[in-house]
Amino acid sequence: MILILEPDIDAASDTYQRLMAYLDELQGIDHRVHQVHGSEQILTEVYLIGNTASLDEREMASLPAVERVIRISDAYRILGRHKDDDREASFSYNGVEFSQDTLHVFAGLCAVDNRQNVERMFQVLAEHGQTCARMGAYKPRTNPYSFQGHGADCLPWVFELAGKYGIRVIAMEITHDRQIDEIEQALEATGHPTGVTLQIGTRNTQNFELLKFAGRQDRFPVLLKRGFGITLEESLNAAEYLATEGNSSVVFCLRGMKTNMGDPHRNFVDFAHVPVVKRLTRMPVCIDPSHSVGSRAASPDGLMDMMHATAQGVIAGANMVLVDFHPDPKRALVDGPQALTPDEMQYFLDDVRIAREAYERRRDLASAHLAGTASENG
Ligand code: PEP
Ligand code: MN
Repeated sequence: MILILEPDIDAASDTYQRLMAYLDELQGIDHRVHQVHGSEQILTEVYLIGNTASLDEREMASLPAVERVIRISDAYRILGRHKDDDREASFSYNGVEFSQDTLHVFAGLCAVDNRQNVERMFQVLAEHGQTCARMGAYKPRTNPYSFQGHGADCLPWVFELAGKYGIRVIAMEITHDRQIDEIEQALEATGHPTGVTLQIGTRNTQNFELLKFAGRQDRFPVLLKRGFGITLEESLNAAEYLATEGNSSVVFCLRGMKTNMGDPHRNFVDFAHVPVVKRLTRMPVCIDPSHSVGSRAASPDGLMDMMHATAQGVIAGANMVLVDFHPDPKRALVDGPQALTPDEMQYFLDDVRIAREAYERRRDLASAHLAGTASENG
């Protein structure tokens, strides 16, 4: 059961204290307080865990400071959607709003290589009015002899350059919990010129200790990739690990499944799951067409498979697109063959816009249809 408290409730207030005193006395029921930082208010939710079947919903709704009560199902207790649960699911970070209604493109380098390419990338993004980017400093590589990323050394100058071009959020993969502190220290040392969303990659989707660490901090939101060889349910449970530790600012990313059934694509594109994740959970959903498709191959109509895949995800309601670009793909140290180039940025953004407009029209069509059906039945 979740108790939704009055917005912006003060933990020192009398009503809050009385509620906590009451909850402390409940036998066999633990409670966990959880805060959601929205752009306008802070929402406090209290999760009751244990024998909650014995609790009377109306009685709980009448407790001090309680605005509403939601009975939750077992799956995805914090991030999931539950019956009669119309809570808004959004969070804002460094001035950027994330929800199941917004759409942001995170374009950039798969791996940071040199200052010149990083600066060129941010410059191109700024020229196209973009405020988000992707930049990999810690790269998990299949081959131990491959470039592993510059790690902490590159962070200060990457962050400074991001700030110079007005980039507000960088998606950056972490592979170890110590890197969270390294990112924090580099941001601190450079005066917080930008923000970071911690990306947990497909190889670490079920690295539960890493999830717990990322979940125990609320300085950074988390972009969790779907595991490439596990079920959707298992990946959504991984996201729930972040939330149970306290961080529910989580975006869930589809990036394709590892199976030869998807050949010749690098992974089997799974963007048909965008609406499924939106239905089962309240997380914004990201798609990664670069790591799904893995090449610049194009169909006879001239469109790259990657752009087709992007459009499929966006037209299905995706909220974020994570995509590899590189100023000079032939020289990229990681994933050059799938990178788009700066002179394709406008083309890519225009194509995303067409798909987004089509999604919005489809969404309006669905609500008009449902409203019509309801009035006929009413
Ligand atoms: C990446 O986005 O750079 C990456 C390594 O992706 P994935 O974890 O999906 O393979
Ligand atoms: Mn990559």
